Amino acid sequence: MDYAYLFKFLLIGDSRVGKSSLLSHFIDGKIVPLPPTVGVEFASRCVVVDETVIKLQVWDTAGQERFRSVTRSYFRGAAGALVVYDTSRRDAFENVPGWLQEVETTASHGMAIALIANKCDLPERAVSAGEGAAFAKQHGLPFFEASAKTGQGVNEAFTSVARDVCCRVRHGTVDLRDGTCGIISKVRKAPIVLKRKKNPCGPARCCV
Ligand code: GDP
Repeated sequence: MDYAYLFKFLLIGDSRVGKSSLLSHFIDGKIVPLPPTVGVEFASRCVVVDETVIKLQVWDTAGQERFRSVTRSYFRGAAGALVVYDTSRRDAFENVPGWLQEVETTASHGMAIALIANKCDLPERAVSAGEGAAFAKQHGLPFFEASAKTGQGVNEAFTSVARDVCCRVRHGTVDLRDGTCGIISKVRKAPIVLKRKKNPCGPARCCV
């Protein structure tokens, strides 16, 4: 499929929270049983945002501490990130601030980020939807309860971050002229630089 933009996206969070499964569901519409991710893998899929076709190149990063140095080098140049925790694991939720800080210090300035509460199909809960939503609100992030098992919220989460990046492009909070990529405009055939500037639309809302 021909596309107008290519956005590099990241899946970030502790090991076993379901990052690879979310990616599988987003790409193939189902969970494919996979061994734990070692280092980084990626896959691509097109989405349509406001009649614009965008190719999302989604990088699935390993959450293990020992792979963090590998993971960090892949943060650079990304246009969007989904920070994931597991609703049945308190530790994974408590590690979210660390992941956000890591993204903030390592990744592109002006990156669009959403918080994903995965495994919401599980009956046992360590983190309520309300607590996740309150944390996201406090940090100005869009929030999605999702399940890579049932598919709930998966497409919505990826598309919302893509819409947020589009919004930043429209409002000039990304620079179309020079620098590192993360967003590639096929029309301009040029990489786009993200600048540190507040998104005027606010989290998860687009300008249109
Ligand atoms: P990663 O290490 O973050 O990439 O996590 P994985 O995608 O490998 O998932 C870890 C485990 O959680 C696997 O056994 C998955 O089948 C399971 N899992 C992932 N997402 C979900 C979900 O939404 N619901 C349930 N019930 N299990 C899930």
